[in-house]
Amino acid sequence: MALIVQKFGGSSVADAECIRRVAKIITGTYKKGNQVVVVLSAQGDTTDDLLEKAAEINPNGSKREMDMLLNTGEQVSIALMAMAIEALGFPVVSLTGWQVGMETTAAYGAARIKKVSGTRVQEELDQNKIVLVAGFQGINKYGDVTTLGRGGSDTTAVALAVALKADICEIYTDVDGVYSADPRKVPNARKMDEITFDEMLELASLGAQVLHNRSVEMAKRYNMNIEVLSSFTGAPGTIVKEAVKKVEKTYISGVAQDKNIARIALVGLKDEPGMAYKVFNLLAREKVNVDIILQSIGRAGSKDISFTVDKSAADAAYRVLMDNQGALAYDHVDINTDVAKVSVVGGGMVDNPGVAATMFEALYEAHINIRMISTSEIKVSVLIDKEDTDRAVAAIHAKFFG
Ligand code: ADP
Ligand code: ASP
Ligand code: MG
Repeated sequence: MALIVQKFGGSSVADAECIRRVAKIITGTYKKGNQVVVVLSAQGDTTDDLLEKAAEINPNGSKREMDMLLNTGEQVSIALMAMAIEALGFPVVSLTGWQVGMETTAAYGAARIKKVSGTRVQEELDQNKIVLVAGFQGINKYGDVTTLGRGGSDTTAVALAVALKADICEIYTDVDGVYSADPRKVPNARKMDEITFDEMLELASLGAQVLHNRSVEMAKRYNMNIEVLSSFTGAPGTIVKEAVKKVEKTYISGVAQDKNIARIALVGLKDEPGMAYKVFNLLAREKVNVDIILQSIGRAGSKDISFTVDKSAADAAYRVLMDNQGALAYDHVDINTDVAKVSVVGGGMVDNPGVAATMFEALYEAHINIRMISTSEIKVSVLIDKEDTDRAVAAIHAKFFG
């Protein structure tokens, strides 16, 4: 007997037919003698629809009330799934984030999990019940409902798996594993049988939506294996784990894209010591995470600094820079949201020179201009115009994977 945590994403529970299909997967696992804890996302586009509803009423609604609204989507899913499982004649209970003791930081809309008590879940498991838990939500020190950021149900699942010492965390979605690029955009993308936590973490952080990056971070920290698989096909998926046996040596694991970014340029800063410190210290105090940074060569006593941030942080970054124009003494600040970041990721990159050159060659052949570049031991990222994204991913993927 194993303890298995299963998570089903929005498209897997989109309508009554999907719910019944998933109820069979869950009860099938239970019938084999396993203990089963299930995390569900909101149905289909529910979260987007709720966001739209809120914007109609008040585009500047407080983050607390947004979380109050958004967490309802997951609650609908668990209640409906519980009813589907009851109809199949199995013992089941559905629980919200606060009922399972999912304690988070206070930050509404982007809360991080601090602690999972799991006592209630364990009690229900001890009574042989299938336990359904609402994903994406928790409770903060004020006793308020919080949400974990878009795609956060994956993180709920891994956190529960860790807290309950589960044997595995299975993430069911609408594709049958992790591919070398988004299989919906690159039709000949290759499915991987296995991928390391480190590579998956880079892919997820660089835009491969298939797993929430914090879920991978947590899985790595506690060495909890994840399997990504389809709720539609029943095919074996991709295992995300510490080390993988590489049958054939592929030094690149995948290509990822992220259109959710903005580039901010500070033009005409004084070319003197301390400018970078002043700019990025202000941003850090505003809790703005900065990604790629580029500083121009100084000319005639002035220089430019440009950097990228998550699109959701662009307004905050712009505001703090404008508020401090006097102190920073720059000419003007420019924001561009028509940009995208495309990255290649691979653990084998360190011992294989030429990855960046190959990537740049693919972009050159596709006549795509590179605006910024950043590298680490296991990735190379470029910033390009947003309209070129799909072509860039296809060209880079073709270059590395044929
Ligand atoms: P869920 O609703 O189940 O959480 P998501 O939409 O969050 O599903 O994630 C699954 C989607 O991730 C797929 O439909 C696919 O288009 C996208 N995706 C992006 N990059 C990859 C990749 N490298 N491998 C697999 N899927 C990917
Ligand atoms: N429902 C949330 C979202 O759409 C959480 C999730 O699906 O993981 O982002
Ligand atoms: Mg998701």
